[in-house]
Order: sequence, then C-alpha cells, then structure tokens
Amino acid sequence: MPVTRRTFLKRMAVAGGAGILAACSRDTPAGYPPESWEPGYLRLEADGQLADRVERAYRKFERCELCPRRCRVNRRAGETGFCNATDQVKIYSHHPHFGEELPLVGRRGSGTIFFSNCNLRCVFCQNWPIAHVGLGQPVSDENLAEMMLDLQARGCHNINVVTPTHVMPNIVAAVRIAALQGLRLPICYNTGGYERMENIALLDGIVDIYLPDLKFMDGAESARYATAGARDYPEHAQSAILEMQRQVGRLVTDDNGIALRGLMLRHLVMPNRVAGSKAFVDWVAANLPADTYVNIMAQYRVEHRAFEYEAIARAITSEEFLEAMDWAEQAGLTNLDERSLAQAALHRRRRI
Ligand code: SF4
Repeated sequence: MPVTRRTFLKRMAVAGGAGILAACSRDTPAGYPPESWEPGYLRLEADGQLADRVERAYRKFERCELCPRRCRVNRRAGETGFCNATDQVKIYSHHPHFGEELPLVGRRGSGTIFFSNCNLRCVFCQNWPIAHVGLGQPVSDENLAEMMLDLQARGCHNINVVTPTHVMPNIVAAVRIAALQGLRLPICYNTGGYERMENIALLDGIVDIYLPDLKFMDGAESARYATAGARDYPEHAQSAILEMQRQVGRLVTDDNGIALRGLMLRHLVMPNRVAGSKAFVDWVAANLPADTYVNIMAQYRVEHRAFEYEAIARAITSEEFLEAMDWAEQAGLTNLDERSLAQAALHRRRRI
C-alpha cells in the first residue's frame, strides 16, 4: 500500500515514535554525501510532489503496463503477468556490494537490493534462481524502507535497486517512507533496460543515478536470448535511456569520485557479436554526449541455459572484447569505465 504523509505520521504516533527515534541513530556517515548535495526525492517531498508520485505509481499495478509486455493484469488483486509478481515486493538480499562500477562502490560499497522476479528471461542470466524462479521473501514497503535506511547506516554510498522495473511502485513508496526517516543517499536504478519511457518519466526527480543495460541492438537477437520472443527490446531500451539522459545528464561525482547523479550505461560483450557491440557504440556516439559513462563489460559467462545455444555457449575471446573497446574509442567515447580500460590494456599486452 502506498503510504501518505498522514498515514506515516499516524503509524509513527501509534508506535510511540520508535521509528523516528531509530532513524535518528541511522544517519549518513560523515563526509558522504556532501552537505551541499541533496537527493532529488527530498526536493520533491519538500515541494509536496512525492506522495502524488507514489499514488500514480501504485495505480499502475491495477492494469499493469510497467514494462513493454503490457500484461494489463490487476496485480493489486493478486493477478500476475509475465514477471510473476503481485503488488507485494519480494527481496532476495540487501547488502553492501563491491563488484559494481567504482564510482558506485567507493570505499564502503554500493547499497544493493536484489529484487526477485524479472520482466526479462535472459537465457544466460547469472541470477536465474532469483530472477526466473523468484527466490526471495515477500516484504512490505515499510520493510523495504528499513533496508534502505540500514544500508545507509552501514555506510553505503547509494541505494542500488537491482531489477527494479516490475516493482517500481514499491520502490517509490519505500523511498518516500525512508526519506521521511532520514534517507539522503542517491537512488541508483539498475535496470536491464526493458522499460517503457512513460514509466521512466514518472521517476523524474526520484532517481539520481540511472544504471541501464543496453543488451542487444537487434530485435531478433534479443527475442532469442533475452526477451522470450519479444523483438521490441532495442527501441524501448533506447527510448528509456534517452529519457534517463534528459533527467540526470552526464555522471557527476563528489571530490572522491563517488557517483551522486547521472547516467551510467552498461553493455555486455557477447560471443559471435550477438549483442551488436559496434551498433551499440555507434548509437551512443550518435545519441548521447561523448563523455557519457559507458561500461563495456567482458564478464560474459555460459550460465543458466546458454549452453543450449551454439552461438553463446562459450566465453568471449580477447579479440571480441578488444574490438568492442576499439570501436568505442574510435567512435569518440571519452568516459569509458576505468576497470574496462584496465582490462583492455591487459588483454592488449597479452596479445603482443
Ligand atoms: S511488470 Fe510484469 S505484469 Fe507488468 S507488464 Fe511487465 S511483465 Fe507484465
């Protein structure tokens, strides 16, 4: 259920203010985020707009079109669509994560929350027990807000919501509950990219950091390997990314290089060029600023059912990774992920 300011305060009064007192001891660690910086959702709350966003987001559950599959089921009545999720969020884990991009990890980790279920069906999914099978525990939006505050208290630099598309209303509701209790970390929206632009538009001012994949540039390849027959991934992902760029722009960091706001784009290089890496860098160069943060990833592994598909039933080669990095540099992209650059340098040395 969405929580309005009135119901939130009423619950706190019933609880004898215990929640508020607990929140006071869970402040951000000294020095991050900078005093001068404020997350967008606090400005929206101050303007009286955040509660309206929660209500608008929650209404979307009643005829779910939260992603391009547009199942039109009533998730508030317990119906489920392709992603197999109701209106109650399920969570597999929440913890500081040190494997994300360095501007997200900083010194104390990215505060990662892994949601169960997914609107994609990547045959190479590394998290398939969580994303496909749906392992995890159902929790309330209030519990989700508690997790956000816990990650903040543990010193994380952001709240990194992984696979958020199908639970976007729960996330927005939880952000407001947590904000009223002292949350002030940036929200990082870590999505596979199969989004509808109008739903990303609803997040304007709530999300500070967008971390989308652009997995495939060809509809037939995405239908085969990621979207279970749907060929419309590339156009939806591209439209959503342009909207993300409009909202948050290029990556902005604090003095220590830790992300505060901006777009961080991911692309996984796959065997036999099935991901369309050349088309990817050309699209970025033509549609986004040259200094857009881009992570060209080399860590493809044969996971889940990938071994059933001959073209992707092996790791990528050094040459496949290096050609993608070369294409990115030739296209004029100037803000490539530091670890990708280091990996490319290593591969180039080994090639000589
Ligand atoms: S979020 Fe789930 S139920 Fe809603 S449209 Fe997408 S797959 Fe269907």
